[in-house]
Amino acid sequence: MGRRSGNVHRFRAYGPRDLPRIPQLKRLPASDRLDLQAVAAVLPFRVNDHVLEELISWADVPDDPIYQLTFPQPGMLSAADLERMRSLIRRRAGPVRLRQAAWQVQRRLNPHPAGQREWNVPRWHGRPLAGLQHKYRETVLVFPRQGQTCHAYCTYCFRWPQFVGIDELKFAVREAERLAQYLRGHEEVTDVLFTGGDPLIMSAAVLRRYIEPLLGPGYDHLASVRIGTKALSFWPHRFLTDPDADDLLRLFGDVRRSGRQLALMAHVSHPRELEPAATLEALQRIRDAGAVVRCQAPLARHVNDDARVWAEMWRRQVRLGAVPYYMFVARDTGPSHYFEVPLHAAFRIFRRAHSSVSGLARTVRGPSMSATPGKVLIQGVAEVEGEWVFVLSFEQARDPDWVRRPFFARYDPQATWLSQLRPAFGREEFFYTRALRAMQRTPCPPVRGERPVRRTGSAMFGRGERE
Ligand SMILES: *Cc1c(COP(=O)(O)O)cnc(C)c1O
Repeated sequence: MGRRSGNVHRFRAYGPRDLPRIPQLKRLPASDRLDLQAVAAVLPFRVNDHVLEELISWADVPDDPIYQLTFPQPGMLSAADLERMRSLIRRRAGPVRLRQAAWQVQRRLNPHPAGQREWNVPRWHGRPLAGLQHKYRETVLVFPRQGQTCHAYCTYCFRWPQFVGIDELKFAVREAERLAQYLRGHEEVTDVLFTGGDPLIMSAAVLRRYIEPLLGPGYDHLASVRIGTKALSFWPHRFLTDPDADDLLRLFGDVRRSGRQLALMAHVSHPRELEPAATLEALQRIRDAGAVVRCQAPLARHVNDDARVWAEMWRRQVRLGAVPYYMFVARDTGPSHYFEVPLHAAFRIFRRAHSSVSGLARTVRGPSMSATPGKVLIQGVAEVEGEWVFVLSFEQARDPDWVRRPFFARYDPQATWLSQLRPAFGREEFFYTRALRAMQRTPCPPVRGERPVRRTGSAMFGRGERE
């Protein structure tokens, strides 16, 4: 196994209640600190010493991209909501009042975009398997119950309701056994993707309980185990000096030795995250264990809405032996108005960055919208017979037959999400619309002779998808 850093760093998280004690914030004006507290009462907030000391450039606050990525910003709430929360805090309202007021704001922030709650949850013996999502044929997503938090929170997180105590909305796995059972009956699945939260919040021993059974007999169809994580940049000590760091890397090695790929799907939003020595050392150890690191992030205003930032990030990833994977369009949830970038601008940023790096970095795909029908890529903006259009295609789809068929939407300089786009050339609907609607009415795929179950409920679409 690779080298280990000499200094042991104890993980310690700072939440909303610790704001007054974060030393770097003491030089901010009192009114700015009140704003921080007001927004942190509504949206998730969590940082740690690595983020505070190694990633944020405090001389550049508030414009610093990592500060924008991790600290609540006043612009994330409407002026009225901000003032209401500020005044409650100024009047030292109790925790119950504060939570009630926060809930009023939260529920207006589209907590479940793209129909995540009802659409993608597979069933076993007629019962929904909470904690699993199976949307694309080859890949099952797992949300381990113990992995529903992160080493620090991103302000643009689309899974934010999991972190603000809306318990009933949580996805959670009861037992690793049910995952193993489900996968055994689904030979079309080649990839299992652990996500959260951040699965690397879990101890190596708990993670092993989920993964190890899948390496034994009966799972020859599984080709890879993916772990989606921000730990590489938010807490690299997870791979170096945390008490079970060696066990974690041994688990990665066991996946490799079982004849499968362990893919660490690293969430990296800005090249600066790949600068600290601890992160470079962690990356080396992960690669030495036989794992592949693939990098992805959403495009977000205030954080990385600049082609040079992406190009530099992809070049650095390639240099370090990591693989650029996806550039996402930030979802229509939470304070999305603060981060959103119009689709035409997202495409321009992607194209500029993509065209300025070598082929080794052009493994990246984007800009990609994870919407109800699938992952939609913006392939270009074109003029066809006098009409300006977005050229789109699916990179992943509920029906694999939809993948890579070009389709066209009217050019709209304001559009920030698929749901705002209209078909070009006078068409009524996109090519997949009828089939998607039919899926809504047809039963879930039958599982091992079980009676088919109808998808039910009126809230199948997220707010942005309903029309
Ligand atoms: C992105 C995604 C996947 C994985 O897709 P790949 O293109 O294979 O990386 C799987 N499930 C869901 C729900 C996703 O959004």
